[in-house]
Amino acid sequence: MGKNRTYHSLKGIYIHFPFCKHRCPYCKFFSLVNKEELIDKYIDALKTEIFKRSMHSRELFSTLYIGGGTPSLMKKEHIKSIVSTILTVFRTSFKEVTIELNPEHNSLNYLKDLVNMGINRLSIGAQSFFQNELNILGRLHSPQDIYKTYENARKAGFKNINIDLIFGYKGLNNSIWLKTLKKVLQLQPEHISTYGLSPRKYPEASDENTYIYQMNVAIETLQSAGYKHYEVSNFSKEGYASLHNLIYWHRDEYLGFGASAASFYLNYRFITTANMKKYLVAPERKNSIEYITEEKSLIESIYMNLRLFKPIKYVSNTLIDMGYFTPEEKGFRISTKGLPLIDYLTLEIINNIKKRRNNGLYLKVA
Ligand code: SF4
Repeated sequence: MGKNRTYHSLKGIYIHFPFCKHRCPYCKFFSLVNKEELIDKYIDALKTEIFKRSMHSRELFSTLYIGGGTPSLMKKEHIKSIVSTILTVFRTSFKEVTIELNPEHNSLNYLKDLVNMGINRLSIGAQSFFQNELNILGRLHSPQDIYKTYENARKAGFKNINIDLIFGYKGLNNSIWLKTLKKVLQLQPEHISTYGLSPRKYPEASDENTYIYQMNVAIETLQSAGYKHYEVSNFSKEGYASLHNLIYWHRDEYLGFGASAASFYLNYRFITTANMKKYLVAPERKNSIEYITEEKSLIESIYMNLRLFKPIKYVSNTLIDMGYFTPEEKGFRISTKGLPLIDYLTLEIINNIKKRRNNGLYLKVA
């Protein structure tokens, strides 16, 4: 299934910075701990990779996202040189430039430097506002660090701030989760991400009922405070949905640079090696290149459309009767009850589509 590209499809650039001071127990990202001596070499390799992939230089890129790892471990000179390499190699008209920041890196001068480089969105990895929960999550910052970061970010001129929170882990009780949500609302960031540790995927997760309860509390609390729930884990004030992440969810094209980074271009997905030694020697070499077949595109489209609450056709009556979908004008919208089951619901819908195709019906889904 081809994707209908529209004139308003945006293209994005992602930079991966895979270094951290400490390993958080639940983390699944590629990142090295206590390897700061490699950072200079890594930045050089990153810039080499950007230059070597200049065949994309005629594309117009609208978003840049610097994630990790812990990108705020980088000196301002590092970030500056990466951004200026991108600006040299690619055609850009950035509407959104995001950097992830850990709250222990909260100096006002550093945050001002980020603003001066053209970074206009800050994503703060707060995760919790309580010391006991931060200890469980293995985070290095304190609740006070979060407040300091937020205050200095505003002073530095950031007008678009995201705060990341985590729920569903063993040791987080429901009342502390509600208090956490209330604390984030006191700050009034433009965007809030709530990531749940699903018991199906994380050994650090609590049980399924707690996960579902905490997810529902987040939805009710943040929606009633005026945030739009525009993606399963993301809430924003009007006009502040993450443009870069929407590129992923809309299956638009993006280039990823850095060890383990993924790119999606002309229906191919490329992944760079997650082996640091190999990356430093040949950063442009891809570890895997996969053509996204029609079948896989269909699965991805349905999965993403469910995440974005888009109306879906061809939902079986069984799923509707079970309360996982509610009818809408253009199809069926996933219900709150269906949200924890997106993987399963995607497969059920695909099976339903296949059954109809086998019965001679041609279905165009997305
Ligand atoms: S700081 Fe972020 S990337 Fe690093 S280990 Fe913790 S969760 Fe993972």
